[in-house]
Amino acid sequence: MPYSYDPQNIFARILRGEIPNKTVAETPHSLAFHDIRPHAPVHILVIPKGPYVTLDHFSETASAEELADFWRLAARVAREAGVIEAEGGTGYRAIANAGGHSHQEVPHFHLHILGGRPLGALLPPAG
Ligand code: AMP
Repeated sequence: MPYSYDPQNIFARILRGEIPNKTVAETPHSLAFHDIRPHAPVHILVIPKGPYVTLDHFSETASAEELADFWRLAARVAREAGVIEAEGGTGYRAIANAGGHSHQEVPHFHLHILGGRPLGALLPPAG
């Protein structure tokens, strides 16, 4: 099934400036902002500005420049939030939901950066 990008999704509307956001950082190809319903003291979303639906869509079709810009911003956001363990922080989790079973709510690729408290196991054991 080909990727179908919905230009009315909420993050597309944020990128067009139609909806406000609490920006953390912006680069030529990416935007980082606070999640509106945070699950941890640090809960930042990093998104590419291009119309990508999921991590696989982005990773396989974005330009090298967009990819580097995005992943470097993700690292910068973690650093500036103070959660990188090698730098005295307490660690963080990066999550990207993609599709139905993951409960992806917003069909514009985004990486959740979560930290600032113990986050528990990733998932309950299968079975
Ligand atoms: P996901 O389930 O991975 O698609 O996550 C979507 C995330 O977007 C959720 O954590 C929401 O709280 C967050 N979210 C939805 N609308 C907004 C918004 N207007 N500004 C910031 N975060 C949002």
